Amino acid sequence: MIETQVKTAHPKGLWVLFGTEMWERFNFYGMRAILTLFLINSLMMKEADASIIYGGFLGLCYLTPMLGGFVADRFFGNRNCILLGGLMMAIGQLLLFTSASIFGTNLSLATTLMWSALGIIIFGNGFFKPNISSMVGSLYPKQEKSKLDTAFTIFYMGINLGAFLGQLICPLIGDIKDANGIRDIHAFKWGFLAASIAMLIGTLVFYFLKNKYVITPEGRPLGGLPSKNEASDFEEGEAQKAVFSVKSLVMAVIAFVALFFAFRYLLGGENFIKTVIYPIIYASGLTLAGLIISDTSLTKIERDRIFVIYIVAFFIIFFWAAFEQAGSSLTFIADNQTDRNFFGWNMPPSMVQIFNGLFVFSFALPFSILWDKLRASGKEPISPVKQAIGLGLIALSYFILAYNVKDLGNSGLLGIKWLILMYLIQTFAELCLSPIGLSLVGKLSPKRFSSLLFGVFFLSNAAGYALAGTLGSIIPATGDKFIKAKELGIDLQAVLDKTITPTTEQLKLLSDNQLSDHNP
Ligand code: GLN
Repeated sequence: MIETQVKTAHPKGLWVLFGTEMWERFNFYGMRAILTLFLINSLMMKEADASIIYGGFLGLCYLTPMLGGFVADRFFGNRNCILLGGLMMAIGQLLLFTSASIFGTNLSLATTLMWSALGIIIFGNGFFKPNISSMVGSLYPKQEKSKLDTAFTIFYMGINLGAFLGQLICPLIGDIKDANGIRDIHAFKWGFLAASIAMLIGTLVFYFLKNKYVITPEGRPLGGLPSKNEASDFEEGEAQKAVFSVKSLVMAVIAFVALFFAFRYLLGGENFIKTVIYPIIYASGLTLAGLIISDTSLTKIERDRIFVIYIVAFFIIFFWAAFEQAGSSLTFIADNQTDRNFFGWNMPPSMVQIFNGLFVFSFALPFSILWDKLRASGKEPISPVKQAIGLGLIALSYFILAYNVKDLGNSGLLGIKWLILMYLIQTFAELCLSPIGLSLVGKLSPKRFSSLLFGVFFLSNAAGYALAGTLGSIIPATGDKFIKAKELGIDLQAVLDKTITPTTEQLKLLSDNQLSDHNP
């Protein structure tokens, strides 16, 4: 009933963008579910390193949208960037498929392919993500802008329906263990192939339906080449380009370099991602934030509003750092120390993440109805209060988990219900905080700095992911192949250095997970 009402009220283009984004998120979250387990079990990485790579990968996925947005606005238009980004991600997943197919015979080539794949996906995501999100808003005429909140709620449901499907299918075919708990380390490839196919479907859906449905309120194609300037319809007279002085740009470059080295020194270590990628993410965010706030054209009120955005962006870093343990430390716990018996079925460890997508999909609409009701009765909490509730809830979710793991020791198993409860509370936290954050930035930004402030906001997400990688890397390594190899008397370093070649039997033993064997 609700759906038919919504369908008639919203432009058809919203459903095309919904479908495209759904398949894209299938590809992204499906791959995210199995990525760290693939790195550990097939490419023989340490858990801590897998976690750092995961954080760097996600962080860069939120840095490149600045580039994708810029290229779309100046050169290619939204449409071409979405198609290009979609194809790049499909190719990236195909490279992961290849990597996961050949690691047994050529580990170093497989590792190189994995790095290239992640690089291509990062740029693909940068072209795709900002452009599809910005098209949602442009589907509506000015007088119907009030529908935008619902439009974004529907879009957010598409995101999470895709995440749910990806986290269902990819683990189902890619994260396989036999009855003895021995993992099929060659199965990951099927998960990556499914992700690639999903991305191709999303790209084709967009390619074939865009001309008919993804149109401006006047019926002209939306998001074409920038010279055609369709998207400027609403912004006429409102938008002014922000112009930074040469002096402030030079200062920004100096600040970036100084911050880069400061973080590089702070994070230390040998690891390339920790000493290069993480500092780039932190330094870009801080530099851009500094560049905007020090602009002399800002009035006092504008500057105060920007400060509010910065305060919110700062706390959001900690939210995403906690939230994004999903694909690293929480997956390691699900893999090594959880009784994953779910109604008599032993759920693949990487699938446990699915509860977030499932719960967001189920609760996004009820939450937006709740906010509407509270608004109507004048009781709706202001955005920063919602954000605080979100932060409180995510803290609570980890307290519950910490309480339940505290007595487990090395061999005890955590009941899957605790992880499910944790994801439920985290979903409520996400729904209080994530969609609201974006609209807060939209409302508080001076028009001429709006895109750049969205950039700062996304960079705070990126910083959160980098921090997530660091946090995930400090949990005690339980499924670490190096520890396992030592127990089994295999010199894993020598295997990786190619001074010895492991037998298939040894590889199998390495993938055996003794703790999971306790699962009924
Ligand atoms: N889960 C949402 C998405 O994938 C939000 C992530 C975010 O804003 N950092 O788009």
